[in-house]
Amino acid sequence: MGEDCIFCKIASGEIKSELLYHDDEVVAFRDINPKAPIHILVIPRDHIPTLNDTTPEHKRLLGHMVNVAVALAKSEKLENGGYRLLLNCGPDAGQEVFHIHLHLLGGHKLAPMG
Ligand code: 5GP
Ligand code: ZN
Repeated sequence: MGEDCIFCKIASGEIKSELLYHDDEVVAFRDINPKAPIHILVIPRDHIPTLNDTTPEHKRLLGHMVNVAVALAKSEKLENGGYRLLLNCGPDAGQEVFHIHLHLLGGHKLAPMG
């Protein structure tokens, strides 16, 4: 558990949140400040601060996060309209929470990447 990590607290249930999905490895919940009509975060239960802390040992976990995000995209009816999966790393990407999280964004036409 990362000390004072908000996402560790959401994953452990210390901070009550509506989980859209949970299993032994990951949990998913809605972003508190959504940047699109549908904005969901998929996070590992393990405290991994940034993508720079991942290694080939995390390959299965990272793949699982993508699988879960795709399943949620389908359950949120984003399958045909499309959606974006995004991982921010470090200051240039504007990472704010230092516990890796996969963003699922959709529900309207998304701005081009810049
Ligand atoms: P980042 O910029 O680090 O990739 O994204 C962090 C995201 O976490 C932001 O979209 C922000 O709105 C979201 N966020 C920050 N704190 C909380 C929280 O306490 N609960 C939820 N559900 N989302 C949060
Ligand atoms: Zn954490």
